[in-house]
Amino acid sequence: MHINSVSHKLLHYVDAQFPILYLNTFEETKVDKIIKDIAYGREIIEWNASKGLVNFLTKNRLLSDMNNLEQILGLLSMDDELKGRMLVIKDVHHFIGDPHVMSILKEIAIQIYNGLEATIILVSPILKIPTELEKYITIVEIDYMGENEIKKLIKDFIEINGFEEPSEELLDDLTVAFKGLTEYEIVNILSLAISKEGSLKKGDLDLIYDQKYQMVQKSGILEMVSLNETFGEIGGLENLKDWLSNKAKVFKNMNKALEFGVDIPKGVLVVGLPGCGKSLNAKATAHLFGIPLLRLDMGKLLGKYVGESEANMRKAIKLAEAISPCVLWIDELEKAFAGIGNSGNAEVATRLFGYFLTWMQEKNSPTFVVATANDTSNLPPELMRKGRFDEIFYVDLPDSVERKKIFEIHLTKRRKNDVALIDLNQLSKKTEGFSGADIEGVVKESIETAFVLGENQVTTKDIITSIENTTSLSVLFKDKLTALSEGYKNNHFKSASKR
Ligand code: ATP
Repeated sequence: MHINSVSHKLLHYVDAQFPILYLNTFEETKVDKIIKDIAYGREIIEWNASKGLVNFLTKNRLLSDMNNLEQILGLLSMDDELKGRMLVIKDVHHFIGDPHVMSILKEIAIQIYNGLEATIILVSPILKIPTELEKYITIVEIDYMGENEIKKLIKDFIEINGFEEPSEELLDDLTVAFKGLTEYEIVNILSLAISKEGSLKKGDLDLIYDQKYQMVQKSGILEMVSLNETFGEIGGLENLKDWLSNKAKVFKNMNKALEFGVDIPKGVLVVGLPGCGKSLNAKATAHLFGIPLLRLDMGKLLGKYVGESEANMRKAIKLAEAISPCVLWIDELEKAFAGIGNSGNAEVATRLFGYFLTWMQEKNSPTFVVATANDTSNLPPELMRKGRFDEIFYVDLPDSVERKKIFEIHLTKRRKNDVALIDLNQLSKKTEGFSGADIEGVVKESIETAFVLGENQVTTKDIITSIENTTSLSVLFKDKLTALSEGYKNNHFKSASKR
């Protein structure tokens, strides 16, 4: 059980006199339970922003006239005040940046190194470690609850409250849906669901998804993307779509597939020219697999404190694994990993990359990675080696058949009745070098113009006018795009299109 394993680890650190432990978690209630478990007779005192210094177990104030952290730490650092005690500091991320707090913590840490029998436990949902304290702090992460634990929590909750037992199938669905939420959140949702209906129903899954959506947004690094796109809305990219459809079959019958000896699919890297459907494909994949899509924002991941970027990466991956089965979409992969070995943030990038590679290599959770990138020339070659991604595809500008299909898709979406009267072949012929996004732009513009001119339908001629007014991406960035395209081919990536 993970509570036990965290307690175990903590106890080991406390016994070995690690001076400062940083518990990085939202789950204060659980943390209180764990700390209580490992105290073994040591007195625990707590500092929190609302009450100042309190008795950890009763939360009664110990000092009525003072609650400033810096002053209290000053007091505690004198005369062996902390001897035999554990000091818990809650929501420390708000205070740890203060130079006085930082220096007293450092002083206490040194005292502990020199034999003072005490431990400081910092608790916060946000990891913030100033450089000065880096070598005194040990980070302890609290794992998310596993499926068995969640199931037990639901069953216990139902039993304790004397509610009606859900069917085995509903229990399984609820368990998977709850993955990634904290014990506190799960109990809250269960209480809410039951107070409304008196028992658990299939409809409660929506409540859970809603809560999960908020939880993911709050994490600040991952974003839960809503799934409105399907494969039917992607023109072309037939090879990629076929390949993904096969993976979906494995994903949807995971237990059977594993029994048969199939490996859990790891993921796919899709590189290609901008505006040609890479993002669209990530969204449609999650839709096809029937699982949530989590987008990892590489820009937000890079933090300014020591170890923050790596901690964020770990957090994002852990959260994705907790929520799995899911698709983890890593957009603009080159942003994080390009430039390894160059100046700037090269060290951080190298460490991040190492962590990501090891995870990809060893991953056995049903987290399917869809990574997308425009430019692969700066990406480290290790990334492209087999064993990391199951396959690498490149997406080129659409050919004439694909362009025709893309016109049809976007026109059908907006002007269904006009499509039969439009000469799609001619439009396709006139748009050599256009990307999918260029074509969508043309369709939108011609429809708007027809409306403004008071026409009652959109014609081939309207669209051709719009094509003539458009400078396609391939004209704007001709050399750059040719170089990218050559790069994909030289790397022997698979073509996403059947050509
Ligand atoms: P970028 O690298 O700039 O993020 P991308 O390859 O991810 O580009 P998308 O965001 O998927 O491109 O495409 C932009 C828009 O262009 C899509 O929302 C879609 O409407 C349209 N589009 C692009 N390619 C296609 C396609 N193959 N079929 C249908 N629509 C497409």
